[in-house]
Amino acid sequence: DALEREIEEILGLRERREKDSELYKIANEVFDRTTKETLAYLHRRGKIEELYGVISTGKEANVFAGVDSEGNRIAVKIYRTYTTEFRRIWEYLAADPRIGYLPKDMRKLVFVWTRREFKNLQRAIKYAVRVPEPLAFRNNVLVMEFIGDELPAPRLKDVEKDLTKTDFEELYDFTMGVIERLWKRGDMVHGDLSEYNILIHEGPVVIDWSQATVKRNRMSLELLRRDLTNVSNYFRKRGVDVVDPEEKFRELVER
Ligand code: ATP
Ligand code: MN
Repeated sequence: DALEREIEEILGLRERREKDSELYKIANEVFDRTTKETLAYLHRRGKIEELYGVISTGKEANVFAGVDSEGNRIAVKIYRTYTTEFRRIWEYLAADPRIGYLPKDMRKLVFVWTRREFKNLQRAIKYAVRVPEPLAFRNNVLVMEFIGDELPAPRLKDVEKDLTKTDFEELYDFTMGVIERLWKRGDMVHGDLSEYNILIHEGPVVIDWSQATVKRNRMSLELLRRDLTNVSNYFRKRGVDVVDPEEKFRELVER
C-alpha cells in the first residue's frame, strides 16, 4: 500500500538498496505500523528524507543514520513501542515533576519518554554542554544532528586504547564540568553519564539523554551521585587523580 511505498522510499529501496541489507532487516524487525506512520509523517515534513544506515541496535531503541530534505545528515533514534523496560521507564517518568499525565498504555508511555529526551537535549544545549542538536520528534521517533564524519563518531569506550593520560585528564575535567554546569546552572542531571554515552568528535559530545531529569525530581540526588561515582571510577582506573565523588557530591548539593 501507500505507506509501505513511502517507507521503501525512506529506506531508499526503490533505487539501489538490496532488500537483504542490514538496514532493511532491522527496519523489518522493528518498524511496526505506528513507527511507519510516524516516519512517513516526518518524511512529508522534510525532517527525514532518507535513512541509509544502522548506527546502533539496542534493547530500547535503534539509531539510524540519514539525511533530511535539505541534505543535512541526521541521526534518528527510534524507540521500540514494545519494550521489556516498561517498568523502569514508568518509574523514571513517574518521578519526573515535568511529566503530568502518565499513560497506562506502553506505546504512549514510550512517546512520553521520547518527548522527554528531546526536551532534555533542548535544555542541556542551553548550558553549553555539547550535545547533538535536537531537530524534531514525534511519537517514538527522535531526529537529531548526526555526530561524525563519514562514519558516526566513536564512543569514548571505543577510543580509550589510543588515549594518553593527558587526554584522560582533559576528558575527566570536561565531564566533571558538564555535571557541575548542568546541576548548578541547568538544575538538571544526565543520569547515565559514562564512556558509552560520550562521543569523541572534535572534542567530547554527550549523548543519550533519555534518563536525564531535573533537580526537583525526587531521584535527582541519586542520579547525580551515580554520575559522579561512575565517572570517577572510570577515570581513576585510567590513572587520573580524581576528586572523591562523595566530596564532590556534598559540594554540589550543600549550597
Ligand atoms: P537508551 O539507553 O536510551 O536505550 P541507547 O544506549 O540505545 O539508549 P544512545 O546511547 O542514545 O542509545 O545511542 C546508541 C548509539 O548510537 C550511541 O552509542 C552512538 O554510538 C550512536 N549515536 C547516538 N546518537 C548519535 C548521534 N547524534 N550521532 C551519531 N551517533 C549517535
Ligand atoms: Mn547509550
